[in-house]
Amino acid sequence: MPISIEQLEKMITENRSHTVLGNTAQYIPALAKQDPNLLGISIMCPNGSLLNAGDSQVSFTLQSISKILSFISVCQEYGLEYVLEKVDVEPTGESFNSIIPFEIHRPGKPFNPLINAGAITVSSMLPGTTTDEKYEQFTSFLQKLIGAPLAIDEEVYQSEWRTAHRNRALAYYLKESNLLELDVEDALDIYIRQCSIKISLQDLAKIGLIIAYNGYDPIENKQLFDKEIARIAKVLMVTCGMYNASGKFAAYVGVPAKSGVSGGILASVPPKWLPETHELQPGYGIAVYSPAIDASGNSAAGTMLLKQLSKVFDFSIF
Ligand code: GLN
Repeated sequence: MPISIEQLEKMITENRSHTVLGNTAQYIPALAKQDPNLLGISIMCPNGSLLNAGDSQVSFTLQSISKILSFISVCQEYGLEYVLEKVDVEPTGESFNSIIPFEIHRPGKPFNPLINAGAITVSSMLPGTTTDEKYEQFTSFLQKLIGAPLAIDEEVYQSEWRTAHRNRALAYYLKESNLLELDVEDALDIYIRQCSIKISLQDLAKIGLIIAYNGYDPIENKQLFDKEIARIAKVLMVTCGMYNASGKFAAYVGVPAKSGVSGGILASVPPKWLPETHELQPGYGIAVYSPAIDASGNSAAGTMLLKQLSKVFDFSIF
């Protein structure tokens, strides 16, 4: 990507005004308190260099971005076939925490692992028997990707735990359908713990790069998860990663991505052949943070920034 920091900073300035199109997540009090004016980006290149612009020295909780990572981690441990017995790979067209799709198709499985019902199911399948063991396994998987340990934001965890009424209701539905490998409270605990893990933009961009390279870390020269799992993960990110705005995101940005209600977006730009020049455009990992989210639960200014970036640098895969 022939992009300069100056260009990126200019885009940040142009897109910062879009923060007014959203609001911080109000249903989790600790997230509601975030500064809605922040906008930052970090791009990780396959040679290990980083481009940072705007409010890039921030860390924030993974929230729903964790869902694609727990899916990859459980698939890597038990195989895709086993996981896809419990969750499907279909978009819903409903909001991420809706009970409707699950209720209509009872006793079916959740539509996909990126809605809350699917993610709670997958979290309960993380390797280990206790929630502590499952959490350890998940964070050691993340540590393999970014090379450093991660920790929970205790305030966000507590805040989410106290207000998780809807997720608790979903977990009871899942329990009734025999989809949970834990009891309701433990399943919620591991799910909320994974959502409350704090990450920097730079570490998130590194994860985006590894997904773009099909589980291969081009900096460390290591295959960290299977290509076939990465392929399904990217399909899920394109079809469901931005919830019921996934269609528009695919149309205007055109790369696999996953958002979270804290205002983070993880995007993976896979390498692509440019037929006119027969050159390979290398892939990138992109992480964006701007905590004012829109009605679909996606960062408002973050989405607009990615849209502009995709147009200028023509990185859509479609
Ligand atoms: N922890 C959040 C919830 O369960 C995650 C949702 C999201 O980021 N979209 O509501």
